[in-house]
Formats: sequence, C-alpha cells, structure tokens
Amino acid sequence: MAKQHKAVALISGGLDSMLAVRVLQEQGIEVEGINFFTGFCVEGHTHAIRNQDKEKKKRNNALWVAEQLGIKLHIVDVIEEYKDVLLNPKHGYGANMNPCLDCKIFMVNKAVEWVKENHENGFDFIITGEVIGQRPMSQRKQTMPIVAKESGADDILLRPLCAKNLPETKPELEGWVDREKLYDFSGRNRKPQMALAKQFGFDDYASPAGGCCFLTDENYSKKLVDLWDGRGSREYQMDDIMLLKVGRHIRPKPEFKLIIARDAGESKFLEGYRKEFTTLLATSHNGPMALVDGTLTEQDHALVAGIVARYGQGRDAEAVEVKISPLGSDEEMISITPLTSEQVLEEWHV
Ligand code: SF4
Repeated sequence: MAKQHKAVALISGGLDSMLAVRVLQEQGIEVEGINFFTGFCVEGHTHAIRNQDKEKKKRNNALWVAEQLGIKLHIVDVIEEYKDVLLNPKHGYGANMNPCLDCKIFMVNKAVEWVKENHENGFDFIITGEVIGQRPMSQRKQTMPIVAKESGADDILLRPLCAKNLPETKPELEGWVDREKLYDFSGRNRKPQMALAKQFGFDDYASPAGGCCFLTDENYSKKLVDLWDGRGSREYQMDDIMLLKVGRHIRPKPEFKLIIARDAGESKFLEGYRKEFTTLLATSHNGPMALVDGTLTEQDHALVAGIVARYGQGRDAEAVEVKISPLGSDEEMISITPLTSEQVLEEWHV
C-alpha cells in the first residue's frame, strides 16, 4: 500500500490557511495544524473584555479553523522566543511594528524544528496559506524563497494557494501531491480565495483585514513604542502587551501613564491588576477603573485624579471624589474638579 503522506500546516485562524489545508486534504494528504502564540495574536479573549465587542464571536480562530477542517491543532507558546524577532528583526518592520518577514521565517523555522522533534509522527512537509503579493512585506515573489531558505525548510515548504507561481517543491517533485491541482493565486484581490471557500462550503471565516496580529495595528504599535520609551528599555512581559489592548492610554508625564477603562467590561478586567499597579476609581460618581503604570509621586495625585474624574459621570461636576490606592501605601481620597482641557488630554493620548 502506498505511504500516506503527512503535512503540518501553519494555522493562523484566517481563511488562507484554512483553504491551503483543505486543498491538500482533497488530495488525500493527512494534515495537522500548528499555531504559534506570540502574545500579540488577535483572539477571542480581547473581544470578551469590551462591552461594545460583546456581539463578536469569542472564539480562538485557530482552534475553530482546526475544528472545521477536522484536524488536530498543536498550539505552541513562543512568547519568550518571539521577543528577539520583534526587537531585532533582520528584515525590518512593516508599516507599523510588524516584523512580518522575520516572523514568517521564525514560524516556519519553528515548524521545521517541531517536525524534527516529532519525527516519530512522520511529517513529510510543511504548508502555509501564503499567497504571492497578498501582503506587502512578507508575501512577495522575492520573499517567498527567503522564507524557505532562512527558515531551513527549503523544498519541503509548500504553499498550495500559489504553488503554480513558484518552483516545484519536494512534495510535487516526488508526486506526493499533484501540482496540477494546486493554485496560482497572486495579488491582493481576495475573490479567488472567496470563490474557493464557497466551493468548499466555508461560509464563516475570520476577516482577513489587517493581518493576523496586533503588531499591524497603528494605534497598538504607537502604544508599544511609548511603553518602551517610558521605561527607557525595549522590554516587555505578557501583561504589558495584554494591557496595550485595553483602555485609553494617557501619558501626562514621561515617568508614568494612566490606563483608563473605556467601559464596564474593561474596568472589570483592569481590576484584576489592582495588586500590581496603583489604581484610581471615582467613588462619588460612576467612573472607570484606572491603573498607573510607572512612577507616581504624591505631587501627581491631584493631576491623575483630575484626569480620571474627567472620564466618569462626574465630568461636569464641580468636584468628584477619587480614591487613589497606591501600591504599598495607604489609600487616599481626593476631592477634585475634573480636568476639562480637551487639548491637554489630546496631547497626552498615546
Ligand atoms: S501580521 Fe503579525 S503574526 Fe502575521 S506575519 Fe506579521 S508579525 Fe507575524
């Protein structure tokens, strides 16, 4: 009996990787998925925080895609290793803080390592949902061979959606897959993918807009750079990058910034950090929970209380009571007139 060939697919949770897998499943290839968790992934838990996002699906798209395809999914935590990719990208950044080309090389390389570590499972090659010209940084004709070479995958990296535009790979040359039944998609037009999705009966899939992680987002990237500038060092922990997804970030002084919840869902989320940060909360009126990230002196208390009061229901009141709970010292109640200067607040917005 002919050997059943096996591939491992990089699963982001978007449509392209979903299609790439199904194309190979149609050829009788057994596929398992691998998803790398960098900490910057756009996932359902972010939608679970904000009230206004309550209608959005709270699902892990990679897991959901795997379920639709009927494949096993391996989720690999790469938070620590990914720091070097983000902080020192050899190929630079895209429009924002997204090091897409280095990221792709890193992930394919991790997949190569994973295949080696799991050699008893007999994976023969790696597939991705990449399409030439789809993304300005990582998915260009010139970058396709760079990813294959620098990741160490070389000719065992197959991109089923655009394979016909690329040199033949080992799975094609060996006849494990039929090149004729692969695709030649290219460019940013997503109509071919949508038509293929329809053909496969996929009518629910994650929107491809904006990329697969927060690093492609302009506002998020600005907040990340501000975090590094504020600390004087380009470092981060998991909590830091989670908190960048939540609240208004206002930096009135270089030494500290305020993270102010935008709704009750975010207030609840920020409350979970009250043992690690100085917090502020209006007590005389309904208002948002706020955290202070950085070093706050007593002289700054009136300033931060005035800002936080501005974002609650007491914004037009003459005085708002605000409770400040500094880390490691006693709580203080402050009665303050909410700050009203839009211009100042605008300038401080990160
Ligand atoms: S969008 Fe994010 S996860 Fe996707 S390739 Fe770029 S940096 Fe990597």
